[in-house]
Amino acid sequence: MLSEREQERYKRQIMSFGQEGQERLKKAHVFIAGAGGLGSPISLYLAVAGVGRITIVDMDVVDQSNLNRQILHFDRDIGRKKTASAEEKLREINPDIMVNAIDVKIDETNAAYLVGGADGIVDAMDNYPIRYLLNDVAIAKEIPLFHGGIRGFYGQATTIIPGKTPCLKCIFPKAPPGEVFPVVGVTPGLIGMVQATEVLKYLLGIGDLLMGRLFIWDGMQAKADEICVKRNPGCEACGGVVKTARNKK
Ligand SMILES: [Zn+2]
Repeated sequence: MLSEREQERYKRQIMSFGQEGQERLKKAHVFIAGAGGLGSPISLYLAVAGVGRITIVDMDVVDQSNLNRQILHFDRDIGRKKTASAEEKLREINPDIMVNAIDVKIDETNAAYLVGGADGIVDAMDNYPIRYLLNDVAIAKEIPLFHGGIRGFYGQATTIIPGKTPCLKCIFPKAPPGEVFPVVGVTPGLIGMVQATEVLKYLLGIGDLLMGRLFIWDGMQAKADEICVKRNPGCEACGGVVKTARNKK
């Protein structure tokens, strides 16, 4: 049940998807891997939308060079743990939701445990090894993985539903080399909003998800495009396993 205060807070979006939808958001738990360029706008918008429980994981400390894009963190936060900064901002922007910020490096020993019973995983990472790990957890738990990636003015996003769509390894079988790459803050802002929109639609059970479609954004040309992506039957992460995706929504 929504409180009177929640009814008022979410009035304009209840106009869009109804009170039942808002209650669905309130009951939802979303896991966000990363409180950086993508994790900042994603967590802020999911928080203000009223997603009832947000777990956000990061192991870094706020650095001055993060501030052109990581809008959860302010100048005063330089030197603080990103999780402390994230938890503070998300609680302030919406005191009616639960925020759990965990300061740890995601690895193969803890990934499944950290995700716990979340309804979906948001990939707000900047490296492929951890993305692949999240992909494995999503497949094992049969929950969606909302992928986003950026470089400079260029970005991409897709929604992976285990058993229904190609997984991250089907689409990107080999990790690009890990490196420090350029980022203009507007790009994770835009791609993060595509991911957050996907999360909301999935939780609400409305609209058409980016399933089997890789959304591509070229900010320099102001062009959006999409590539049709297919399952790889020989995929080492999901290949050969045709599961019936749990349809609990
Ligand atoms: Zn696969």
